[in-house]
Amino acid sequence: MVLVDLRSDTLTRPTPGMRTAMAAAEVGDDVYGEDPTVNALEEQVAGLFGHEAAVFVPSGTMGNQICLRLVVPPAGELLCDADAHVVTYEHGGAAQHGGIQSRTVAGGLLTAEAVAAELRPEGWGTVPTAAVSVEQTHNRAGGAVHAVAVLQELRDLTAANGIKLHCDGARIWNAHVASGVPLEAYGRLFDSLSVCLSKGLGAPVGSVIVTSAALAAEARVLRKRLGGGMRQAGILAAAGLFAVDHQLERLAEDHARAATLGAQLGVTPQTNIVPLTVPDARVFAAAAREQGVLLGVVGPTRVRMVLHLDVDDVGVRHAADVLRSLLDELLADHRG
Ligand SMILES: *Cc1c(COP(=O)(O)O)cnc(C)c1O
Repeated sequence: MVLVDLRSDTLTRPTPGMRTAMAAAEVGDDVYGEDPTVNALEEQVAGLFGHEAAVFVPSGTMGNQICLRLVVPPAGELLCDADAHVVTYEHGGAAQHGGIQSRTVAGGLLTAEAVAAELRPEGWGTVPTAAVSVEQTHNRAGGAVHAVAVLQELRDLTAANGIKLHCDGARIWNAHVASGVPLEAYGRLFDSLSVCLSKGLGAPVGSVIVTSAALAAEARVLRKRLGGGMRQAGILAAAGLFAVDHQLERLAEDHARAATLGAQLGVTPQTNIVPLTVPDARVFAAAAREQGVLLGVVGPTRVRMVLHLDVDDVGVRHAADVLRSLLDELLADHRG
């Protein structure tokens, strides 16, 4: 049976070219700052986002967790949306590691109006808001893209109030490819970003923190304290460099396939995630699995299909046929 795995874009496996690059990587001890491939990756990614420095970390969660501590002091407040990865999927890390108090506004894409209504600057006798975190693209909002104009409003608002702005940019690469907004134009709006190499870009491991030189130096200490200091990590950084150089523009193919699949199911995805509401997500996913299509269950009535480098046109057509006929059966049951 054909198996089409649409649960997540973390499921990609390194391509042959990537494995070759990894095998050939020059390495050194990165805790000593002596791995030339890690240094090259950090320099390249910092440059792409228009920042001074970058720090390679093992995961997107560690990237976010370190960044949150760079921008929020212990007992300070982080403001984010209720569906944000940082308060949904990171196991309370901001509270445990950083002593950070998180407060949420309505789930999904942030707006400057919604954030302005909730900001609590220093001097109000309230817990001061130290930073706002924005997710680009937004995972639980189905890969939706924050418009650059909205991000600029958020930048202006936070700057005017002395508040930092962090970007959970796990899929910012998808936002860049879908919107055509240069990575640098996104990058300069934020004090810190965490960007994933191991989602759509297809590296097996790794994320990169992008920020100022001063904050990057602090990030290296926090990374070591969390046990994220890696030694001959150039083998992994080589995969990231290969991904950025060779597997970035191809994200457009994932977006096109997501659009094809979405059109069959009556939804219009913005990037590589096709969100779908069904009567019972577990039942729907189990029925799809029986026909070789694996979906992500993200809520009682919500599933998602995520397109990535290991899913081709044949796979998408199969998934579209299977899911369309399951939806048709549900509609027929409903009428009957
Ligand atoms: C995947 C993801 C992360 C990081 O996840 P890791 O599995 O820790 O690499 C962070 N934020 C968002 C929005 C994500 O989708």
